[in-house]
Amino acid sequence: MPGTRAARGMVADLVWWRAWGYVKVVGMRKYVIMGVQGSGKGTQSELLAGDLDLVHIAVGDIFRWHVQQHTKMGAKVRRIMAAGELVGDDMAESVVRDRLAQHDWNYGFLIDGFPRNGPQALFFLESYDIDGVIDLNLPDSEVRRRVLNRRLCAKCGMDYNLISNSPAVPGQCDTCGGELITREDDTEEALEVRLREYHEKTNPVLDLFRRKEYVVTADARPPADEVQQDIREQLGLPPYKPNGK
Ligand code: ADP
Ligand code: ZN
Repeated sequence: MPGTRAARGMVADLVWWRAWGYVKVVGMRKYVIMGVQGSGKGTQSELLAGDLDLVHIAVGDIFRWHVQQHTKMGAKVRRIMAAGELVGDDMAESVVRDRLAQHDWNYGFLIDGFPRNGPQALFFLESYDIDGVIDLNLPDSEVRRRVLNRRLCAKCGMDYNLISNSPAVPGQCDTCGGELITREDDTEEALEVRLREYHEKTNPVLDLFRRKEYVVTADARPPADEVQQDIREQLGLPPYKPNGK
């Protein structure tokens, strides 16, 4: 009977959708990555997000984009960022809220640069569930060495370090030939402020997460691929395979 076949079809659809929904829920991974300036949050986030299909949300990058594009928000945050201070919580929270509301993260997300103080942490914990927090650990002396020698390609964003990873031609990107620039807040004065902000305001967030969530701490001093491996082992994720092999 045609009616029965249609009904069977509907049941099959329902089972299929249930199963698909189940795969999606089980496959979802939501993390926060924290660590002082220069600890490699950006690099580790990209390595992690790549093959796991997570959306990497870097709040600092979003603000820098606004500054470069001369948006209204860019005008508000430019000086604050250049001085190494935190922008207002309202702005940081709305950036995160709007970004997550895009719902383009089918397999999960990795938030880098948020929350950075107590009020942001409370907002975050009230609004979102997360599966874990990655804490990259780096001593301040190493932070200075990394950050003050950091250069970025103005064209493709690739980052270099004049001590450990300098470009073949000084001032020029190896990959795209773009000009290498210094981030406006990678100066001694602004770094001092950023480090102070981190220790005073962001460390308490880690303590709060340690009480509530699953925090894994990785030593950020070894080469990037070793740090990545360490993070994955601690989170029980599939091993890191350079170049997707
Ligand atoms: P870093 O961690 O190296 O200091 P980011 O790229 O994460 O740099 O952030 C750059 C700047 O953007 C910060 O110094 C701050 O001014 C602003 N910013 C980024 N995230 C936040 C946030 N959650 N709350 C307030 N300000 C932020
Ligand atoms: Zn480049």
